[in-house]
Amino acid sequence: MNPRTQSDQLFNEAKACMPGGVSSPVRAYKAVGGAPVFIDKGQGAWLCDVDQNWYVDYVLSYGPLLVGHAHQEVQAKIIEAIEKGTSFGACTEGEAQLVRKIQTVMPKMEQLRLVNSGTEAVMSALRLARAYTTRDKIIKCTGNYHGHADSLLVEAGSGVATLALPNSPGVPIGSTENTVVIPFNNLMAAEKAFDHFPNEIAAMIIEPVAGNMGVVPPQEGYLEGVRKLTQEHGSLLIFDEVMTGFRVHPGGAQTLYQVSPDLTTLGKVIGGGLPIGAYGGRAEIMALIAPDGPVYQAGTLSGNPVSVAAGLATLDIGLKAWDQAASQTRALMQGLSDIATKYSVPMQVQGVGTMFSCFFTDMPVTNLKNASRSNTHFFADVFQGLLAHQVHIPPSQYEAWFVSTAHDSKSFNQTMEAFDSALQNALSV
Ligand SMILES: *Cc1c(COP(=O)(O)O)cnc(C)c1O
Repeated sequence: MNPRTQSDQLFNEAKACMPGGVSSPVRAYKAVGGAPVFIDKGQGAWLCDVDQNWYVDYVLSYGPLLVGHAHQEVQAKIIEAIEKGTSFGACTEGEAQLVRKIQTVMPKMEQLRLVNSGTEAVMSALRLARAYTTRDKIIKCTGNYHGHADSLLVEAGSGVATLALPNSPGVPIGSTENTVVIPFNNLMAAEKAFDHFPNEIAAMIIEPVAGNMGVVPPQEGYLEGVRKLTQEHGSLLIFDEVMTGFRVHPGGAQTLYQVSPDLTTLGKVIGGGLPIGAYGGRAEIMALIAPDGPVYQAGTLSGNPVSVAAGLATLDIGLKAWDQAASQTRALMQGLSDIATKYSVPMQVQGVGTMFSCFFTDMPVTNLKNASRSNTHFFADVFQGLLAHQVHIPPSQYEAWFVSTAHDSKSFNQTMEAFDSALQNALSV
């Protein structure tokens, strides 16, 4: 492996002109130490850094690249779109094609609106839920991430009765005072929250399979339970499937668990690596969105033809090979788990479909509290060991690993060998 001298130099240069040297915080490797790898290019399951080292990639741009990097057919569709221009601020044919494609696997999204990011999709869905119910409060779960909108950058207060507190400077109390925070996978806490604020909850928003504290599946009956509660209280249920959409099942968590939300937010895979987001759901609710209804929401670049082309191609190719990718993910999870057992390393491998995480802890992880018991120092050592053996995983214990349809036995074998060495190294530190 070549020393990462170019990466180090580029990082120093970037730090001089960009906060932390990055465009999004996790990329700075704060949780694992060391300088981040700068990427030159990707191909299939592989990434190449600026020092010409190739890595098996399990970040996949944090989920969007269901068919891997630089897939030939996706690239061809992107180029075809770009040759016609990049943006028109007017209607294009592809938008409704992408929407219909999504609807074939998520039929509960009767109407959709395209936006530019997952954050934007969530912001818009919440505005809509508040307008529809004429209520202000929302419920969210600790450890669930829904983008960086003010009202959702919150942490739990000291009990259900306590409203959320901002967890970032710059977020006014006023922005979070309508956000109620409860633990994930705890139906009783949800019940209490609804009882405590009768007729005040516009919506409960949830990652139906949590992916932003590492992958934490819903416990048996939990999603059905929150569906029932929201219905009983006249509140909407919003599934934030920005990550889980096309990842936990071709039709998302709503299809996998057969629980129908009122509204769904999407992003990541539907843009195939270009910026996009979408929200949608019951037609009667979506009818409130401008220009049909009074709820304002707009976007200069929304429905961008290049993003739409990339998304369409990614879904076309990715959904066909999806089952194969999911069964390979299961095999990989088992392989990693066996290696941990061999070295008596306490580790929970948790995943659904094509996303999973390895938590270094001895108990199954069901919520943020027990996720936080993971040994993050050990994780950091394993991360560095994997990187040194040319396997690229997310630089945090609390992120999901993603598998693409381009991963194959060569990339998996390299991963197993690297993981074996990385655990040995980490144990000897
Ligand atoms: C990534 C993510 C978002 C935010 O999407 P961006 O495109 O980064 O704004 C929102 N919700 C969930 C569940 C996500 O995983």
